[in-house]
Amino acid sequence: MGNTNYNSAESDPGEAKPESLDFIREIVADDLANGRHASTVTRFPPEPNGYLHIGHAKSICLNFGIAQENKGGICHLRFDDTNPAKEDIEYVDSIKEDVQWLGFDWGKNIFFASDYFEKLYAFAVELIETGKAFVCELTLEEIAEHRGTPTRPGTNSPFRDRSPEENLALFQRMRDGEFADGTRVLRARIDMASPNLHMRDPVLYRIRKVPHHRTGSQWCLYPMYDFTHCLSDSIEGITHSLCTLEFEVHRPLYDWVLDNVTIDRRPRQIEFARLSLTYTVLSKRRLLTLVEEGRVSGWDDPRMPTLSGLRRRGYTPSGIRAFCKTIGMTKFNSLTDVALLEHSIRHDLNDTTPRRLAVLRPLKVVITNFDAGAVEELEAPNHPKNPEAGSRTVPFTREIYVERDDFMEDPPSKFHRLGPGREVRLRFAYFITCNEVIRNAAGEVTELHCTYDPETRGGNAPDGRKVKGTIHWVSAAHAHEAEVRLYDRLFTVEDPNREEDGKTYLDYLNPNSLEVLRDARLEPGLANAAPGERFQFERSGYFCADTVDSQPGKPVFNRTVTLRDAWAKKQKKG
Ligand code: ATP
Ligand code: MG
Repeated sequence: MGNTNYNSAESDPGEAKPESLDFIREIVADDLANGRHASTVTRFPPEPNGYLHIGHAKSICLNFGIAQENKGGICHLRFDDTNPAKEDIEYVDSIKEDVQWLGFDWGKNIFFASDYFEKLYAFAVELIETGKAFVCELTLEEIAEHRGTPTRPGTNSPFRDRSPEENLALFQRMRDGEFADGTRVLRARIDMASPNLHMRDPVLYRIRKVPHHRTGSQWCLYPMYDFTHCLSDSIEGITHSLCTLEFEVHRPLYDWVLDNVTIDRRPRQIEFARLSLTYTVLSKRRLLTLVEEGRVSGWDDPRMPTLSGLRRRGYTPSGIRAFCKTIGMTKFNSLTDVALLEHSIRHDLNDTTPRRLAVLRPLKVVITNFDAGAVEELEAPNHPKNPEAGSRTVPFTREIYVERDDFMEDPPSKFHRLGPGREVRLRFAYFITCNEVIRNAAGEVTELHCTYDPETRGGNAPDGRKVKGTIHWVSAAHAHEAEVRLYDRLFTVEDPNREEDGKTYLDYLNPNSLEVLRDARLEPGLANAAPGERFQFERSGYFCADTVDSQPGKPVFNRTVTLRDAWAKKQKKG
């Protein structure tokens, strides 16, 4: 049956192999098997009015994925740029960058709906000529009032029965800029009693005396989405026009337009559920507000669900693609746990990311029986399960830093790390025992005095003595000071989109979504990390050198994701 191989995906390790086709791929396979189409042409049609987010990634993976999976399949990148007031070239550029970064290539198939303005105008003229569209002088509010409700039919516009000649002349004058914004629109002449409100003489064109980022001031008349989209699909020879569920009710209009103009290629619209994530907002309007109000540092703030934010945070394209494959395609809207996205990234990073030692909140340890001035170079593998990743050496000296959290003055029995009189293993190094706790005048612990057992080099005692805990460390003299940014979820509630009790998503912002540690100590090699380079800091998480603020010699690291799902633990406790 059809062409259903998944070669391109299988060659990517770490991505799950699909068990069966989703309902869209089934339709596609069927169309190919029945000869309805020789191959597939899909499109990803962003409006350049914001940056792409993880929801768009679902659509990109679907549309470009189908092109890759089917012989001869292609996917267009089409900018749906019909609303000049909100669109910008900055967004066009960022969208291109993000699609490429995700791993997809549109080749020469990049299009702009604005390139079709002349053709679309001609289609509108055809509708007017056949009596299927008219110029209406009601205001938008009046049009809304006339529309009726799902149970009450609308009323016809008093301008509905103008002659085609009269309409053609008026439409031309609209194009010529003779009328002010909002004074006239072009409407389809369908059925004001249709149970589908979208079919009640919908607006096709409106006047907007706003310059367009591509066509300049050539047009003051802009086509609406429902008119533009189906015709752009037909002009480009799209076979399967895949969109989110809210367009299901627009489908009769999509088909009506195509049925009532002269076209030679007939696309089919199929709807799927949009991605919604817990603890996340994915509406471009809301994301824009977060940026404009300075709630985040920009579209690429690492807490943003934008592709540019996730990239800066350290997410990998393959991890995001694997996530999109995992969630699959359905016909009903639901909320996906953001932990699943985090899991996909963690899983993707695990196999490939080199391990390093970094102490985020340092506490000094003096190893009193180790020679001052002596330096021992200890071998440390770069990956615990992958010998091909090689190894490096880390310097061990009399003074080291350990994680403040790895010491407890009065530890409970389940705490297997450092405490007075307790012995632990230093990763790749020796067993040490804590003998003395040093405090400042305020009573705070400032230093631990420990002794090491020289017999335990490499982490094992010849006498078979066991320790339960292994902690990470760095040599104080060699460590590099760095800024580390710990990110957490941007919202404190599962569904920040739900508006209740007069609250909006802005009321649910997590005040602790960013913690900046300025005093972290890194093992020496990390000082020269290249921006964008990723590491696992042992026992802490995956980190990525910030692409904006990090410089070799002065690194800044972003925490991509913790090693375990800290929220699941918190919820269980709570
Ligand atoms: P938003 O609602 O966030 O403003 P949009 O739908 O207006 O997004 P577009 O630029 O029109 O954004 O979207 C481009 C494509 O991406 C469309 O085909 C749209 O259906 C799809 N898309 C947008 N958001 C999601 C999502 N959350 N899940 C899946 N697909 C999405
Ligand atoms: Mg849209």
